Amino acid sequence: MIATENTKEDDALRKYEFKKKIEELREMKGRATELISLYIPPHRRISDVMAYMRNEYAQSSNIKSKSTRKNVMSAIESIMNRLRHYKKPPKNGIAFFVGHRAIGADQTELIVRIIEPIEPITTFLYRCDSSFYTEPLEEMLVEKERYGLIVMDRREATIGIVKGKRIESITNFESLVPSKHGKGGQSQRRFERLIEEAAHEFFKKVGRIANETFLGDEKIRGIIIGGPGPTKDYFVDKDYLHYDLKKKILAVVDTGYTDESGLRELVMKAEEVLRDIEIMREKNVMQRFLAEITKRDGGLAAYGENDVRQALQMGAVEILLISEDLKKKRIEIECTNKSCEYNEVKTITDSYKLGTCPKCNASLIISSKIDMVNEFYELAKAGNAKVEIISTETDEGSMLSRAFGAIAAILRYKW
Ligand code: ZN
Repeated sequence: MIATENTKEDDALRKYEFKKKIEELREMKGRATELISLYIPPHRRISDVMAYMRNEYAQSSNIKSKSTRKNVMSAIESIMNRLRHYKKPPKNGIAFFVGHRAIGADQTELIVRIIEPIEPITTFLYRCDSSFYTEPLEEMLVEKERYGLIVMDRREATIGIVKGKRIESITNFESLVPSKHGKGGQSQRRFERLIEEAAHEFFKKVGRIANETFLGDEKIRGIIIGGPGPTKDYFVDKDYLHYDLKKKILAVVDTGYTDESGLRELVMKAEEVLRDIEIMREKNVMQRFLAEITKRDGGLAAYGENDVRQALQMGAVEILLISEDLKKKRIEIECTNKSCEYNEVKTITDSYKLGTCPKCNASLIISSKIDMVNEFYELAKAGNAKVEIISTETDEGSMLSRAFGAIAAILRYKW
């Protein structure tokens, strides 16, 4: 199970980094309509994109303002130069954000950002505006975990997957279970046995297909099961589903239908459950931390950058809690004067300004820089600690950000 958890954490980190890139892009402004956003889906031919860009290039020669024209044309050139390095788009496609952003005092600076998104780009898009167009990337960040869906009764079953808002029906089939009250003639007991056998076969089939569909899919975060009446509960209680899938069942809810509309019904009813589960998970882990910290001896908890870093380095951390609000960097500073050996490692915020060397007064340079989330994430990995990135959507989450320096840990042992 450890492998799955690591995948989930890597995912969380990837997402976090992606989010940071988007935020950075969103803050950039052009002085005029001169920032270009270009989204290329994975199956788009580069030659087609080049042709499109050449056309845009020709069009932009009509722009009236001289400086805007110059900036737009150079941005397009810059994109075309980079496109030449690709035979075809990467797996998820590629997005370019290029243009001259305003940096005050009538100054501009050429920005080139090339992003391979965390999910496939679905639509080709070219846009030239006074800010970068990041919505398609932002959409990828919206909770899009996949959940396996099963709706069933004794007559029919439908299996599907929900990903974000999209529900995909994978298969629908009917059973051969005869209706309970129907045929006369045969002895009642024999008839009932036949019914139960047919039902058993049907449940086995539902289980088999669900196992085949969901077991290999690591992105399936959980299974939701629905249907009218008690059949679904019986199905869940017995061992028709693989043990690993049974563990993933998040909710069993009543639905009126067992076809595709049943899947939609199921998702609608489960949505609240799912949101609550995510929030509850964050709340629970934070409450565990708070329970520890309020113990008289300080409990199995640590918080604040330095204490948590030390605990991580000693391998004493079971769960690392990082607020997504943590916006600090860890830098190494060196003196530019070769004969001076001054160097320092420190934590900074974005507003940090480099001073001069306290030893020799020469200027300083930043020789390395890492986002603190990444730094702690790496430390946690090395020490086998679990990582939870906590949103600020709950009271507990915003408490982590405000009261505990945005970083805390539940410990394995006191140190
Ligand atoms: Zn110095």
